[in-house]
Amino acid sequence: MLYFVKEKTIHTFPVSKRCNVKREKEQLRDTIPHDVEKCPYCMHCWPGEDK
Ligand SMILES: [Zn+2]
Repeated sequence: MLYFVKEKTIHTFPVSKRCNVKREKEQLRDTIPHDVEKCPYCMHCWPGEDK
């Protein structure tokens, strides 16, 4: 899974269908930094995670 940070919020890439954020020139990464908010749409769609 890849992620990107936009305006201090981390989203998955590609983004969830419910997420209205578009990745533009944000850098893709494969780890989640500690100092960001998690997009509720993208970050709730992990397989096997029911949080
Ligand atoms: Zn998102």
